[in-house]
Amino acid sequence: MAAENRYSRQLLISQLGEAGQEKLARSCVTVVGCGGLGSPVLTYLTLAGVGHIRLVDCDTVSETNLNRQFLYREQDIDQSKSRQAALFLKERNSKIRLEPIEAVLTEENAEQILQGSDVVVDCVDRISVRRLVGHACQKLEISLIEGGIHGFYGYVLPVQPGKSACLECLETNRAKENLPVPALGAVAGLIGSIQAVECMKVLLNLDGVHFGTLLQYDGIYGEFEEIPVKIRPDCSCQK
Ligand SMILES: [Zn+2]
Repeated sequence: MAAENRYSRQLLISQLGEAGQEKLARSCVTVVGCGGLGSPVLTYLTLAGVGHIRLVDCDTVSETNLNRQFLYREQDIDQSKSRQAALFLKERNSKIRLEPIEAVLTEENAEQILQGSDVVVDCVDRISVRRLVGHACQKLEISLIEGGIHGFYGYVLPVQPGKSACLECLETNRAKENLPVPALGAVAGLIGSIQAVECMKVLLNLDGVHFGTLLQYDGIYGEFEEIPVKIRPDCSCQK
C-alpha cells in the first residue's frame, strides 16, 4: 500500500496507479485561454499533479468574467489572467511547475509557444485563435482537446493530428466570429471538466479517447450526443 499522500485517492484508480501518476508528473500541457473553460481545465490538471502546465492568455481580468471564471476574485480585476491564474493554482499545488505566458498567439509565435507540449487544451472563444492553435498542433503533431460553449450548449472534440478529423473538417460554413459568446458558468465547468478528463487519458495512454468524435451537450434537454466527424479531404489539416 502506497504511503498516504495528496494523490492517494487517484492512485486507487486502476488505470492510473503509481505508474500513471509518474506519467502525469512528467507531462507538459499547454492550456490556451484561462477563462470559463480554462478555469476547470487548469484547476483539475493542477490538482491531479500534471508536472508542467503552461497558461496562455494575453487578457486581463474583467468583471464580466466573474460569472464563470472561478480562478479570479473581484480584487483581481485588471490584473493579468495568466499570472493571477498561476498564483491561484500554485496555492493548491506547489509541487508542479506553472508557467504563465502573457502572449497574443500569432502565426509567427504559435508553434514556438506550443512546442514541447504533450497535449494542448484549447479553451479560447475566438475562432481565429482556435484555427491558429489547430494549425500549430497539426504541424507539431500534438494531440489537441478542443472544447467550446454557447449558452446551454457545449462540445468536446479530441483531435489526433494526421489521424482524426479536426474542428475545421466540420466547420465549413459556420466559421463566423460572433463575440461575446453567451456563457453560463456551470456549462463551462462541465465542458472544461470533460476536456481535463480527455487530456489526462491522452497523457496516460488510455484507449478510450474518442479522437474525431464530437461530443455534444445540450443542457436544455440534458442530453449528450456523440457525432463521428469525417476527415474532409480538402481541409487544411490534410495539407
Ligand atoms: Zn480538418
